[in-house]
Amino acid sequence: MRRVERREMAPEDLEEKGAEELEEAIRHFENDPPNPDSFPFKRYKLKSVKDALERIFHGKCAYCETFYASSQPLDVEHFRPKGAVSGEVGHRGYWWLAADWGNLLPSCIDCNRKRYQVTPKGETSQVRLLDETSGFSAAASVGSGKKDSFPLAPTGSRASSRTDPVAAEKPLLLNPCEDDPEEHLTYFFDREHPVSFVLAKELAGDPDYLGEDGLSLKGATSVHIYGLNRLRLVQARTRLLRRLEFMADLAIDLKQLAETLKENADQEIVRAGYQVDAFGNRTLAELASMCADDQPYSAMARAWMRDFQTRLEIP
Ligand SMILES: [Zn+2]
Repeated sequence: MRRVERREMAPEDLEEKGAEELEEAIRHFENDPPNPDSFPFKRYKLKSVKDALERIFHGKCAYCETFYASSQPLDVEHFRPKGAVSGEVGHRGYWWLAADWGNLLPSCIDCNRKRYQVTPKGETSQVRLLDETSGFSAAASVGSGKKDSFPLAPTGSRASSRTDPVAAEKPLLLNPCEDDPEEHLTYFFDREHPVSFVLAKELAGDPDYLGEDGLSLKGATSVHIYGLNRLRLVQARTRLLRRLEFMADLAIDLKQLAETLKENADQEIVRAGYQVDAFGNRTLAELASMCADDQPYSAMARAWMRDFQTRLEIP
């Protein structure tokens, strides 16, 4: 997950039709007595909303950075669930935010809908997860997918009506438009056995989101609820990780060969050395392009790049 700036205003028809829908929803939920049925929200699914989210997020899932555009329809996801809140009996969901632009995110099916995914056993325990990087022999199927989940930090206070301030909630889920996921998540790289797990990061400040182990509770909860270590996703990130490692090795080999050739007395060979050096630079440029905002798993690629640059600086 990477931070994304919501750089477009709400689509005009969402503003207009969403406001009409909200009026109807207010009558539905705030009547005396309130209507016990669910409300058929539909404005959040407007084409203009899907198109804008696709542009802002480059066709990627807001949570896991998988390209959904090529493989599956876009789920417009409510960060604060619109119809119910898991574990909160009687809460009717954040229905007043159903067409609120700031509450809408693009999500792949696997991150959004509740389903059983194979994930490494003990994925809530960071230490055990690190011990289990050798594979998925101890894999277990656990429920993941956000659906109606919206857990809060113990210090947060749940908004249950239109007049309650959501600012007091302190959600335990990362929102890529409001949080900096880099503060809460870290990637684990093992060069011997490349496999890409995302883990909760040590958190410096913010006691509201600090777990007992010193790690970000918000990061750990997000990994669990969004299923960021589900098998297929780990495999996809690992394929990218292996490509990055391969190209890095190639770039280093080319640059080293170039240096050797450039020291030769034969001017032809020196010229060849400069050519090889240029190939090395092109390979490095390709590596950098794999970390761009519009690339899949760019947060992991960037973290890997920082790690790679540190490796280059250490002789
Ligand atoms: Zn996803």
